[in-house]
Order: sequence, then C-alpha cells, then structure tokens
Amino acid sequence: MNTVGILVVGNEILDGVTLDTNTQWMINKLKPLNYIVAETITVRDDTTEIAKALNRMMDDGLGLIITTGGLGPTYDDMTLKGVAEAFSLPLAVNPEALAIVERQYRAFHRAGVVDSAEITEARRKMAAFPEGAEPLDNKAGGAPGVMLRREGALIVSLPGVPSELKWIFQNPLHPILTDASEGHYTERIINLSARDESMLAPLIDEANKLEPDVYIKSMVKSMVDNEKGHVIRLWISCHGDEMKEIQAKVNRVADFLVDLAENNLT
Ligand code: ATP
Ligand code: MG
Repeated sequence: MNTVGILVVGNEILDGVTLDTNTQWMINKLKPLNYIVAETITVRDDTTEIAKALNRMMDDGLGLIITTGGLGPTYDDMTLKGVAEAFSLPLAVNPEALAIVERQYRAFHRAGVVDSAEITEARRKMAAFPEGAEPLDNKAGGAPGVMLRREGALIVSLPGVPSELKWIFQNPLHPILTDASEGHYTERIINLSARDESMLAPLIDEANKLEPDVYIKSMVKSMVDNEKGHVIRLWISCHGDEMKEIQAKVNRVADFLVDLAENNLT
C-alpha cells in the first residue's frame, strides 16, 4: 500500500499563529491517487527535530514523506538542513535549482515585486540541496520543491506558503505521484434518514458482511436534510486494484444501506 507521512515544519503552527491547512489539502489530493496518510508530525523550526521526525517516518517504513514549510531564504527556514542531517548528506548548490531561483527573481523584478534580481546569499540558500536531490519547479514563488529518493522512499519537501505548495503539488509533483502509486481508491458519501447512530450499527454490520473490503464510517452528528429530515452521513470507501471493481463494491454497499435503512428505520 502507498503509505504517506506528512511532516509539518514551523513555529507559527505550534504557536497557534497559523492554522495548518496544507495537511488537509494534501490529504484530499493524495486520497484519489490511493495514497493513505499513516501519520503526520508537526515540529518547530529546528534542524535536529526535523531530522528526528524524518528518521522516525523512515523507521515506520513509509513509502512517501512530504514535508511542508521552511524552504525559504531566511535563517529560520531549515528544512533542507534537517533532510541533509537525517540522511547524512552534504548540502551543495544544485545548478538546476539555482536556475529556477534565478528565473523566479528575474520575474519578480520585472513585475516590480522585488528591488533587484541579484542572487544574494539568502536567495542562493534556496538552491542548497542535500546531495542527490532533484528540484521541483516553482512558478508561484522563489523556492523550488525538493525531491530525494532514499532506501525505497520518496522524500518531497514543499514550501509552507499554501499557493506555492499547491502549485508544485499540482504541476511537477502530481504526475510523479501518479506514476509511483499502485492501485485505486474511491469513496461515496450517503445520507440515511436516521437520528440515532446506534440504530445504524446493525445495518452497518450487515453491509460489512456483504463487502468486507469496503470501509463504512458513520459521521456521528446527525444533520437536517431539507428532503429527508434528520440524516446521518455515512462515508463508504474502498481501495483495490481495479477502479470498476471498487466502484461496484462501494455502490453495492451504498444501495444496500439505503434500502435497509428505508425498510428498518422509517
Ligand atoms: P517562504 O519562502 O515564504 O519563507 P517557506 O517554505 O519557508 O516559504 P514558511 O516560512 O514555513 O514557508 O511559511 C510561510 C508562510 O506560509 C507562513 O507564515 C504561513 O502563513 C504559511 N504556512 C506555513 N505552513 C503552513 C501550513 N502548514 N498550512 C497553512 N499555511 C502555512
Ligand atoms: Mg519561511
């Protein structure tokens, strides 16, 4: 299975200044590619803490590790130092990454966003990559994404700024993740007319027997639907090799539950 760890880096998250929206956004993009997020860790801007978290995720045998935050030009951006420390790699300027940084600052200068396109030490730092890593283009900001393959795992570092993270994820990274992923995933959410979740438990048991591979999760709080009155939302999902097959399984369970609920609960 395609197991993923997300490592969030930033004091601003742990100090409650910024809400971590990057993790949820990535989870929802990873799901359709059949990647399952097994764990997330949030650490401060601290090289040792970043390296420790990466080592733990490697020990857990995750196939894909994505870090977010700390790729920028300032001193407190130390994610790549952490990656280098975790894998005992030296940091050196990556020429391809430097070309991206240079191109971006020329564009920022033309657009009047920065006073000079000069590659200062701080800007050059964004191209200082752990040895063996490759850049992921970033047209939404200054810092390229970073991709490193180690011991069968893919380690990807993305910026913390949501617009930059999204741009890199959806452009250079998406096809790489699609190629590396195995199998498929599908989900469906249905509303059953019911007020009390405990009444649903035996119906879910029945449905589980029908398709043991399908995961059924009820979302505890009942809601009011304009047509149906009180409803409980059920989230029905399945992983598998064939998309058609898992869609059929999910639909079978959904239809079965709707029928069963209509006959038993109303
Ligand atoms: P920069 O080049 O801007 O320094 P960076 O990769 O170093 O980018 P950070 O410095 O960690 O990113 O974060 C920049 C800003 O992005 C933060 O101030 C915050 O507003 C936002 N941000 C960071 N992490 C997250 C997150 N996990 N979820 C949502 N927003 C975030
Ligand atoms: Mg920063």
